[in-house]
Amino acid sequence: MRMVDIISKKRDGKALSTEEIQFFIDGYTNGEIPDYQASALAMAIFFQDMNDQERADLTMAMVGSGDTIDLSAIEGIKVDKHSTGGVGDTTTLVLAPLVAAVGVPVAKMSGRGLGHTGGTIDKLESIEGFHIELDKKDFIDLVNRDKVAVIGQSGNLTPADKKMYALRDVTGTVNSIPLIASSIMSKKIAAGADAIVLDVKTGAGAFMKTDEDAENLAHAMVRIGNNVGRNTMAVISDMSQPLGEAIGNALEVKEAIDTLKGQGPEDLTELVLVLGSQMVVLAKKAATLDEARTKLMEVIENGAALEKFKTFLSNQGGDASIVDHPEKLPQAKYQIEVPAKTSGFVSQIVADEIGIAAMILGAGRATKEDEINLAVGLMLRKKVGDAVKEGESLVTIFADQEDVENVKAKIYENIQISAHATAPTLVHKVITE
Ligand code: URA
Ligand code: CA
Repeated sequence: MRMVDIISKKRDGKALSTEEIQFFIDGYTNGEIPDYQASALAMAIFFQDMNDQERADLTMAMVGSGDTIDLSAIEGIKVDKHSTGGVGDTTTLVLAPLVAAVGVPVAKMSGRGLGHTGGTIDKLESIEGFHIELDKKDFIDLVNRDKVAVIGQSGNLTPADKKMYALRDVTGTVNSIPLIASSIMSKKIAAGADAIVLDVKTGAGAFMKTDEDAENLAHAMVRIGNNVGRNTMAVISDMSQPLGEAIGNALEVKEAIDTLKGQGPEDLTELVLVLGSQMVVLAKKAATLDEARTKLMEVIENGAALEKFKTFLSNQGGDASIVDHPEKLPQAKYQIEVPAKTSGFVSQIVADEIGIAAMILGAGRATKEDEINLAVGLMLRKKVGDAVKEGESLVTIFADQEDVENVKAKIYENIQISAHATAPTLVHKVITE
């Protein structure tokens, strides 16, 4: 087999065979196929697309390019959730203990990553003592006993994807549905998921800015999952404005606690119930989405979900008393209000720009080396559709410095107030095929 023939075949719009895709991924991973040939193929795929079989083959070839996590010692169906990323997305922190409380095993491997706020692990590390350095056996024992544990990323997972993603980033080939879908799905499958719930965000704060693109990506990922024997479902959810009220690490932990108590923001609570219901059904802990939702609401109301969060924290060295005493979480030195300049209805809160405002305060990382300030961030006091009076606070800034004029200016630029506005629809669609 020769790489040049594979590139030419795809350039001419023909489908690649399983063997050709395997040949490419093997050769590229071990360095025999050079970057220039891999980038030519990526560009050919960008223009000519891939059929369902090719997408499934590419995904599984990338899964096989490195280590895979074996979770077979954990009883039950391991359902993983993946979000395509947004601003102030606190869902994982809530979902992990919530679905565990109804018996779904949550064996989560999590990273830090870049973004407006930290990853799930950074957020959890705002809890004194909490750590993710578990050995594999303890991790599995914890999930079998208490249904939930989080471990740091280890091993060499999907090296082919790492190499391809870096290459695509500099060759104008990131934005290709078959390449994005196989990239995301390969990582979930390598991490040991039996079933996968995808939260595909759409809007200003999302990777996919339009509903059409988000739906195409969701269908592509769901089909890959189902074609390779992992039950997969997707929810298309709104990310035109940030999710919930808190954007920041410790602030989001507090928000997660409130939500587990049934006192969280409406949109975050609803999204958690929608995604959680899918997870419960895929794990076969309920027969229908309605039954699953009822079970989830029950464990919120009877306190079992909150109790599960405490168990999870103390299992991993964390101070569970923060659940009843959230004032023990890292606190910013200053709280500065951003008052509305006019009365009316909030008509827009541009998610990505508000995320950047939080990042300027120090809540997130722009490069891998950046240190995160766990205490700082923003609390949205109004969401799109809310009435507001002149002088009322739109946002509270939690900062460690007194001068936040640049952050304030960014917030004013990106929150619009109009005579009329309604709240956006949160869940745009549920995709099962
Ligand atoms: N996120 C990924 O993990 N892969 C892509 O290709 C794009 C976004
Ligand atoms: Ca939030």
